[in-house]
Amino acid sequence: MIYDNHNRPITYLRLAVTDRCNLRCFYCMPEEGIKYLPKHQVLTYEEMERVVRVLARLGVQKVRITGGEPFVRAGLMDFLHRLAATDGLTDISLTTNGVLTAPHIADLAALGIRSVNLSLDTLDRERFRKITRRDELPAVLKTLDGLLSAGIQTKINAVVMDGQNTQDLIPLSDLTRTLPVDVRFIEEMPFNGEGSHYPILNWTHKRIVDEIRTRFPDLQKLPDPPFSTSANYQIPGHQGTIGVIAAFSRTFCGTCNRIRLTAQGTLKTCLYDNGVLDVRALLRSGAADDELTAAFLQAFAHRPLNGFEAERHSMQTGGSVSESMSTIGG
Ligand code: SAM
Ligand code: SF4
Repeated sequence: MIYDNHNRPITYLRLAVTDRCNLRCFYCMPEEGIKYLPKHQVLTYEEMERVVRVLARLGVQKVRITGGEPFVRAGLMDFLHRLAATDGLTDISLTTNGVLTAPHIADLAALGIRSVNLSLDTLDRERFRKITRRDELPAVLKTLDGLLSAGIQTKINAVVMDGQNTQDLIPLSDLTRTLPVDVRFIEEMPFNGEGSHYPILNWTHKRIVDEIRTRFPDLQKLPDPPFSTSANYQIPGHQGTIGVIAAFSRTFCGTCNRIRLTAQGTLKTCLYDNGVLDVRALLRSGAADDELTAAFLQAFAHRPLNGFEAERHSMQTGGSVSESMSTIGG
């Protein structure tokens, strides 16, 4: 097991397999989309497999596949099959918008994919269309149904957006009444490809919980699992749980065990940093596994204490937090 300079173990990799997407969620990218990377700048599956192998030897046990939308990249399922055979990996999961996912659910279950995060910000078709700029709610609901029928642990990720979907907090929470889902509300972050929406965040994690309590006053706090980014709750008698992720307020940095590899092969040791290692350049310059290992260890030894420190450093070195989440992977 490898620990960073603040004594936090590094066990979890979020791997963005593409920056492309078939939706245009307004909190993630502008209506016209982002300028996609030319194909040769995106890591090949073989390069990703190699990075995962090296990181697994260093103690990474969990990989979450994300993007962009993972299912828009051809060959994803073959890649997952090969990834599942990596020594040392105990948990492969993925985050998807659910539009193209339903036909692959049986295969995902057969592969041993234990959990899927499904992004779903509203149950209202018109609001869904407005938020994602595409009319795809029926396809996403079909995926939700399929995941639950296949017995795959499903988390619903809902970004809480001022003036857009706060009326959905209660109906989404109410899904937990009859469905064994974990509904997780996420504070909106400024990673929308354009810069921050709001000078201050109106819908903080505290306000989200207060709003849910107006309808469900007996909402109970659950113990949070180690390294959890969400504060977890349950409504007594409900099958599922509710989580609130303080992604903007950054209350969870003290136990952060995660690193990110963007689609172009940049290592981020904090969501709010500007990229700390060009892994693609190393791979393509012929670096041996030992050299990759040394570069990763060096990066882990210089992790920022928290997202505020990372953001400050990023700003001072000419970076910004206006990048699209589609290139970072969430
Ligand atoms: N396309 C897939 C999806 O939407 O599930 C995977 C990639 S997406 C970038 C990963 C997660 O990031 C999604 O749950 C999405 O809601 C979240 N996300 C994107 N932009 C965000 C923002 N500005 N603030 C908070 N969460 C954001
Ligand atoms: Fe696409 Fe996911 Fe970004 Fe929405 S949040 S635009 S589905 S990458």
